[in-house]
Amino acid sequence: MAGPTPKVNRSWADPLANRIPDPVAKLRYLRNVRGDDEAVPEVSRWRRARLPVAAVVVVVASLVLGGTVMRRPAKREKSVESAAAVPAVSVPVASGTVHAAAPHTKVWLVETRGTLESWSNGLQVDTSLTVSNKKRKAAPTGIVFHTTESQMDTFEPEKAQRLKMLARGLLNYVREEKGYHYVIDRFGRAFRIVAEEDIAYHAGNSVWGDEKHTWTGLNDDFLAVSLESATRTGDENPEITPAQKLALRLLVEMLRYRFGLAARNCVTHAQVSVNPSNFRVGWHTDWAGNFPFEEIGLPDNYQLPLAAVERYGFGYDPAFFAATGARMWRGVVAAEDRLRAEASRRQISVAQLRAELRKVYQQHTRAQDVPAPNQPETAHKETH
Ligand SMILES: [Zn+2]
Repeated sequence: MAGPTPKVNRSWADPLANRIPDPVAKLRYLRNVRGDDEAVPEVSRWRRARLPVAAVVVVVASLVLGGTVMRRPAKREKSVESAAAVPAVSVPVASGTVHAAAPHTKVWLVETRGTLESWSNGLQVDTSLTVSNKKRKAAPTGIVFHTTESQMDTFEPEKAQRLKMLARGLLNYVREEKGYHYVIDRFGRAFRIVAEEDIAYHAGNSVWGDEKHTWTGLNDDFLAVSLESATRTGDENPEITPAQKLALRLLVEMLRYRFGLAARNCVTHAQVSVNPSNFRVGWHTDWAGNFPFEEIGLPDNYQLPLAAVERYGFGYDPAFFAATGARMWRGVVAAEDRLRAEASRRQISVAQLRAELRKVYQQHTRAQDVPAPNQPETAHKETH
């Protein structure tokens, strides 16, 4: 496929591109930042083979096909809009193995002693700080994983008292803010902060989707699980302990079994966070790389196309790439590929398609009570 002549010479592009180990991802990134969005894209024979037109039912094409959109309307009230009221957003999931639905492990509550729950898979949940909040209207449909962006200290025995003090301050803060349903501290202790039947204020402006639904404003539909940690940029691993990883695995098992959560709807905040004021993804970048999906029993959901890019035409900028690990770029590229395929099928430019999709986003989120992008949206922004 012959790429169009670069229209913009952006000197920052190449150094960033050099950080992309995957040559295909690098090419697509360069193609994007060099501004060929204005051109009618070609679809290579390879791409046509992977994405036969008949199989690609992307956003705009699906507007007439019916279905539902899950969204967060005004005043944090959740509703399911009918097809007549809101256009459907229906995008097929890419073939492959990444989202094979992992079987649910049966997990049940063994006993409760005081404020400690023991679950059949070994999970223990401390409920001493659990608070109520506004009730959700329906059972949760997925999990958003966060880091608390906490003050960190070395994880050594002689620091135990200080580490406990830091954890306690964090937990109290999250409780005040009703910021997450669960926090796992550095000792691997799982605390239920906001009751699962209630809403936690964790996701802010956000977008995710599966085969049937697209959600905006994920607070109403997704549980929040946060690890006491601090995000590092790019491919650097956030500092999490083996105890945290173990507890996270057990907690995810329990939540998935109890609520029947699909593996593909267990994703990181960086995968769902958006800034509607400039239509960029990655307003929050916690777990923008190296979330241990496989180690906790999930498929590598970083490979899933970013729903905000694919379904609502969001873009991204150098700051997002700087903050993002290589694993997550695959999801960006996958979403871009689908956008280009759809634009090609309709013989319009990617820029035109993006503009249409952004209007759809605005329709879906109009009148929603979402904080302004320059306001703190989630608890973890406040816990530095
Ligand atoms: Zn977050």
